[in-house]
Amino acid sequence: MRDLEKLPKAHLHLHFTGSMRVSTLADLATRHGVRLPSQLLDDDPLHVPADERGWFRFQRLYDAARACVRGEADMRRIVAEAALDDAAEGSGRLEIQVDPTSYAPFVGGITPALEIVLDAAREAGAAAGIEVGVIVAASRMRHPLEARTLARLAALHAGDGPGQVVGFGLSNDERRGDTAEFAGAFAIARRAGLASVPHGGELLGPAHVEAVVDNLTPDRLGHGVRSAEDPRVLDRVAAAGIALEVCPASNVSLGVYGSPDEVPLRALVDAGAQVALGADDPLLFRSRLVAQYAIARDVLGFTDPEIADLARSSIRASRASDGSKARLLTGVDAWLAS
Ligand SMILES: [Zn+2]
Repeated sequence: MRDLEKLPKAHLHLHFTGSMRVSTLADLATRHGVRLPSQLLDDDPLHVPADERGWFRFQRLYDAARACVRGEADMRRIVAEAALDDAAEGSGRLEIQVDPTSYAPFVGGITPALEIVLDAAREAGAAAGIEVGVIVAASRMRHPLEARTLARLAALHAGDGPGQVVGFGLSNDERRGDTAEFAGAFAIARRAGLASVPHGGELLGPAHVEAVVDNLTPDRLGHGVRSAEDPRVLDRVAAAGIALEVCPASNVSLGVYGSPDEVPLRALVDAGAQVALGADDPLLFRSRLVAQYAIARDVLGFTDPEIADLARSSIRASRASDGSKARLLTGVDAWLAS
């Protein structure tokens, strides 16, 4: 059986705080004298229902983890470890998602917060031997004008090189905020050449996928799995070439599906959608990138040629340069030929 860790791939859906190793979180908590909920440190993946109460529990744990990140050294460590862990799993291209607002109070504002992440991404990528691009993500829970401010900041650092901003996202509870009100921020990002990569089609169904497509013109959708509930919407997504960042373990942890075999990965692929598997928040879901490919193979019955296609799809949907994509795709061919 071919080793999934050796399969070259791109990782397009990983959140900054959620990428943290449990051991690092424990260390930061000790250092800063923060008492963490035991759930963050035990061995069990989070499991909540897909309702607002479930999301609240997830968010409370996420906030507790974020409260342990208190300055430049902590931020650099998170990026460095995310790059190392990704590289160890065969990822040649990581696009890590961060909302600089969360860390701004510790480093003097959103501009230095982003600059630290970008510089750390450059260094971490070089040290780990992978490319690390950054996605600036606004939050649905905050005012759309804040999203515009973030989009302008992201635009200043736009580029496809290491340590540059490659995309603009929108995260947090999909049921909150008015999607149309974020169109302005995405227009700013798009004008700067940034990929549009909002979350959508996770906690809400196909109607909201269409709202996101109509208002935010995504190049990729964070999750988008629930497009599968309406063949017309799924066809539209596939025809538009909108890639879906599918995170099976996350979907199960957050109650979107009852178990991994219910994740409609097969239906998405069969409809011609481009899929890039991602880990989302391994800190809480206890499941990293390779585990998502393992679910595709072991639970959903994907053959190795199909697994290789998933990896190719992730590479093509990334914002890597054409040269980097070609190099990684050659590696996928070699993996399959081995
Ligand atoms: Zn996410």
